[in-house]
Amino acid sequence: MIKLELPQQPQLKAIDVCFENYYKSLLEKLAKDGNTHRIIPEILKLCGNMANFKLLITDEWFNIKNKPDNLLFEYYLVCRFYLDLTKMRSSDDERYRINWISKILKCISHYPKMNELIDSDFLYDITSDYYDFQMKNKKVFNNFDEINNKLRDFLNYDNFRDRFRVTLWRLYGCEVCPYCNLIPITNNEDFSTADIEHFYPKSIFSLFCVSKFNLVPSCKDCNRQFKGSKYFHYNPRYEGLDEYFKFDFSVNASFEQTIDNYLSHSSEIKENDINLAIKLCNEDKYVEERLSTLKINSRYDSVQNRTDICKFIKDAESSRYLWLKTIENGVILEDKDKEKILNQISPFLSREIYRSRKFMNIEKGKFKADINSMFQDYIEGLLYP
Ligand SMILES: [Zn+2]
Repeated sequence: MIKLELPQQPQLKAIDVCFENYYKSLLEKLAKDGNTHRIIPEILKLCGNMANFKLLITDEWFNIKNKPDNLLFEYYLVCRFYLDLTKMRSSDDERYRINWISKILKCISHYPKMNELIDSDFLYDITSDYYDFQMKNKKVFNNFDEINNKLRDFLNYDNFRDRFRVTLWRLYGCEVCPYCNLIPITNNEDFSTADIEHFYPKSIFSLFCVSKFNLVPSCKDCNRQFKGSKYFHYNPRYEGLDEYFKFDFSVNASFEQTIDNYLSHSSEIKENDINLAIKLCNEDKYVEERLSTLKINSRYDSVQNRTDICKFIKDAESSRYLWLKTIENGVILEDKDKEKILNQISPFLSREIYRSRKFMNIEKGKFKADINSMFQDYIEGLLYP
């Protein structure tokens, strides 16, 4: 949900070195026992050449995905369809299966090289029986499964993890999980609360299991319990969801839900009266899906957060008379005085972070900024009529 802010040099350089070293060790493995793995033809088929294979491990996805001399984008598409198939449930509407078939056919006509990875002759389009549909269409991916098994074995993610996990996370300096922005992940020396999350699930996208672009620091809850092997459309490495939704709240009370009323009734409002909510700022169904997969609403709806909101309202009310008096007395405020007032009502979060919206290393930074902004907007409306 929060964009992963990459560190500065020289950490960035040191991160690259980790991936380059792993790539070198893969080459050594190929030189030593390449035939045992019988993987070279598969790598060349997918990547086109070894230079692209190196980029796949060490570079960003957008730098390699559309190169014409390889099948990497086709590989990605096949993985997406395969993942969709494995995630299908008997409760899914039949239209979902019809849609899957039509999308895959459309894609193959756009990207005919997909046929080099799957056998679309096996596509089975009787959609009424879910089990039948899923079982028969798995055949489309038989060869693909075989390639993936070889890749998984050769790339050996467990070995990568043993060698680089702690070093990498120290270099990334990511203090709070970018998926939930809730759980600190560098709170002790061995990073025991931190995981490496595969943005493209490694169970299907085996070729990407040690790629730099695919590894995201995350908390264990997000990685294991909530995201798991699901696919998200926004890679935190490239994009956050900050602009796409807002934390919001309402109060169980008979009065109209306005900031002015919250402040006026601040002494009556208790934490159990607070209802935390999430407001979507666009129609993108993937944003909603992602927030619900990560269970953001229920994970944030804690006694602590409701208590914080109550305290926030009481603090804002206790300083309100000061700024209201200033405004009522008709004092002409200079910008720096207005800024001072806005600072006073932001005990939650510093103005600088609030403005830059760089929340990655601030626990619940996005939550605090959104609650803050409801009050800021109200007060700015009074100060700058
Ligand atoms: Zn998390």
